[in-house]
Amino acid sequence: MNIILLGAPFSGKGTLARKIVADFGLVQISTGDLFRENIKNGTDVGKLANTYIDKGQLVPDSVTIAMLEKRISADDCQKGFILDGFPRTIEQAKALENLAKIDAIINLEVPFDEIRRRALGRRTCSKCGEIYNTATYNKTTCEKCGSPLFQRDDDNLETVNNRLEVYENQTAPLINFYADRLFVVQGAKDPETTYKPVKNFLKGRI
Ligand code: ADP
Ligand code: ZN
Repeated sequence: MNIILLGAPFSGKGTLARKIVADFGLVQISTGDLFRENIKNGTDVGKLANTYIDKGQLVPDSVTIAMLEKRISADDCQKGFILDGFPRTIEQAKALENLAKIDAIINLEVPFDEIRRRALGRRTCSKCGEIYNTATYNKTTCEKCGSPLFQRDDDNLETVNNRLEVYENQTAPLINFYADRLFVVQGAKDPETTYKPVKNFLKGRI
């Protein structure tokens, strides 16, 4: 089963994807994580992506699509994958149609004020990638593995504002693009509450 997860930045895509992965044995593919990995390793893709990510802009489609195509052709993806953060433009969505068969598309809907409230409080575990928010978790180490939490470089006020604008202009149109096959879930509450209807929906599709 191959799944697309749509939603604004800070809607909780990453958290939801991790829950789906745990229950359904899929591979999580986050283009944001892939770019950050490239940046850490100093690759050409990383160097180019960095200049866009820093400003809260999208990395050009050609680069993003090529990176995604390579990732989904790897062996581990044959058992099924969940795309978290891709597609983010209509052009990416059109390219994806020729790359993979998609079985389910989930749109995580969170009101704009809730997104803003979450934005600057996000903390990520440096080791296992677990995601927290200072509004609900005030420790500086991960509950699961004990490693230090950090705030992503692009989670600052200016970049966040740009990312939300980019979402409205370039990514939100995907909701119409996929309208007739979208499963919509409300994501303003806690992660368990959000996941429940998603789990039931996916169970009915295996
Ligand atoms: P969030 O979901 O919180 O915005 P991500 O980790 O998904 O964060 O993405 C971080 C940044 O990586 C984005 O702001 C963008 O610059 C880049 N990026 C990630 N996915 C894509 C994509 N599909 N197309 C273009 N740029 C992307
Ligand atoms: Zn951890």
